[in-house]
Amino acid sequence: MMSTANYIRSDIQQMKAYAVADVPAGFIKLDAMESPYDYPEDMKKELGRALAAAPIRLYPNPGSCGLLQVLRDTYAIPADASLVLGNGSDELIERLTMLVSKPGAKVLAPAPSFVMYRVNAEFFGLEFIGVPLRPDFTMDLDAMLAAIKEHQPALVFVAYPNNPTGGRFAREKVEAIIAATPGIVVVDEAYGAFSSDSFLSQAGQIPNLVVLRTLSKIGFAGLRIGYACGPAAILDELKKIIPPYNMNQLSLCAAEFALQYQPFINENISRLKGERERMRTALHAHPCIQDFPSEANFLTLRVPDAQALFDKLYAQNILIKKLHGMHPLLDQCVRITIGLPEQNQKVLNIIDELYGNP
Ligand SMILES: *Cc1c(COP(=O)(O)O)cnc(C)c1O
Repeated sequence: MMSTANYIRSDIQQMKAYAVADVPAGFIKLDAMESPYDYPEDMKKELGRALAAAPIRLYPNPGSCGLLQVLRDTYAIPADASLVLGNGSDELIERLTMLVSKPGAKVLAPAPSFVMYRVNAEFFGLEFIGVPLRPDFTMDLDAMLAAIKEHQPALVFVAYPNNPTGGRFAREKVEAIIAATPGIVVVDEAYGAFSSDSFLSQAGQIPNLVVLRTLSKIGFAGLRIGYACGPAAILDELKKIIPPYNMNQLSLCAAEFALQYQPFINENISRLKGERERMRTALHAHPCIQDFPSEANFLTLRVPDAQALFDKLYAQNILIKKLHGMHPLLDQCVRITIGLPEQNQKVLNIIDELYGNP
């Protein structure tokens, strides 16, 4: 008897599903860079009214729903850049990979970086080249340029700032990569709101640059709204392979609504940045912890025993991300999302308990 397994791609059968953590009730979730700030009650009521008016009997039409213009106005997206929405920037990463998936095409990115770059390359049967960062998680530009020259990648991903390491690569290095790459360079600014620099103002002006952004890390991960900005020559092709109704009416409506609350969003961003620096300073005092600079809403640390720290926090209902085992450079590393001040303090206290008061 033939089983359906005979018909399913064997490479997919061998893959592991992206692990979305099941979080017990009452846990403090510091594993996925979600915002800890809930809406105020009055804002929720307004959102309810806005959603009630959303025309859910109709298919969504991003072009006419208003969100595109709100994004352009809010983030000063250049008029000559095209703008495409995705169901999370994850969908745009997938479709940008599909866009270049000719036989033999290659995808390249620094490593370690966002795992979905590799996963999507593999989905489309493309070779993925991960160019190791330096041990301090800065970019090895010479190695990048040599790999670009050798492999002539169709697509290069640069997370700016980088996940899971938190740092922002030097702008000049990213510029050199864009100049040296024959194919498309995607500068993924998922953490752009927490960063001191951005390529967004150049979107549309550099022929092979696509800038990816998302609402996920600034308080709206549940809406699944990402967007790509870049030259029409690339994005007009991308539009052809985005499913016609990929966005949903409620998300489009909620995003347009949420972006009106810029003071709320910006205040939360600056609080998180402040907490990030406060935590980094406190952790820096521990001689046994190696802290890395971050321009994102998380900190990456090397500790004496990543599993022990993970377990100790877990036992106190705090979930972080253990990076150890994902890449050789991430030996004994953990990634901790910045939460509310009292949550961060709880983490710091537990670290003091484990490693002694500095
Ligand atoms: C979180 C993250 C994304 C995914 O964002 P969504 O818009 O939620 O799909 C993309 N890139 C990087 C580097 C991320 O860390």
